[in-house]
Amino acid sequence: MLATGGTIAGSAGDASKTAGYKAGVVGVDKLLDTVPALGSVARIHAEQIAGIDSKDMSAALWTTFARRIDALLAQDDIDGVVVTHGTDTLEETAYLLHLTVKGGKPVVLTAAMRPSTALSADGPLNLLNAVTVAASKDAGGKGVLVAFNNQIHSARDVTKTSMYAVDAFRSPETGVLGFVQDGRVEFQRVAVRPHTGASEFAVADQWPMVEIVASYADASRVVVDALVAAGARGIVVAGTGNGSMHATLTQALAEAVKRGVAVVRASRVGSGHVMRNGAASDDALGTVSAGTLNPYKARVLLMLALAASTNDLQRIFDTY
Ligand code: ASP
Repeated sequence: MLATGGTIAGSAGDASKTAGYKAGVVGVDKLLDTVPALGSVARIHAEQIAGIDSKDMSAALWTTFARRIDALLAQDDIDGVVVTHGTDTLEETAYLLHLTVKGGKPVVLTAAMRPSTALSADGPLNLLNAVTVAASKDAGGKGVLVAFNNQIHSARDVTKTSMYAVDAFRSPETGVLGFVQDGRVEFQRVAVRPHTGASEFAVADQWPMVEIVASYADASRVVVDALVAAGARGIVVAGTGNGSMHATLTQALAEAVKRGVAVVRASRVGSGHVMRNGAASDDALGTVSAGTLNPYKARVLLMLALAASTNDLQRIFDTY
């Protein structure tokens, strides 16, 4: 188990508090002590990799996690890895690991919406369920998984959809892969796009600068121009609707493409599929459509692709 912090390791002075707590302050050994039932599911070797609120996640930490996970999975005496994480950027870390970790053994992320000190804290059961999934023979070879609130999601599609509910994650359009409840793990589908050992990507020592820009009523070009001037190598647009963009932004982004910046069109809507040459002409603009990836996951994929000096970006987005 690799612990990175988050609300699952959060603490508040008062058990009635479910907001206004400090994330990432309770050590992994203490978290494990709260779930004695773990002892009958697995023998756990725990490491505290970080103790942060996941809003502060960094690409440098991603590199550290992915390499540590690969090293652990290579050990004969390790059957799977569980990562505890904050919910806020869990979907980004999960997708990054899905595309970079090489082993076929289970890797399962989990988290919590309520701090460990709260009444009805959701962390202990999520932790038990995540370990149960990681210990399951059925969980191998399915890419990185997220076990949360009795559901098992693929890292590819999962996203946080509630700011407060313990039922905080969804996989829009595609749905969950399966369920984990009372020690039983049940898969009903798999994610078919390549991942882990079949992915062409690896974590980097130096990450390219890739930023996200939103389109909205009255959007200006100021942010795009500033990013180009700052040396951004990629820009993901959180577009309106089917990845459409304000005309002013479109002009600025077309100029950015001419200056060598990779521009990917995603959508701020939260479900659906940004079609190539749909709401904007990717052929004419030199842009790439993100398909079903949300802007934050599209940024992860663009970072990996640019770090690998990949040129055929539309193929990458159509493949992963
Ligand atoms: N801010 C917290 C984090 O992402 C939220 C959570 O874990 O639920 O670390």
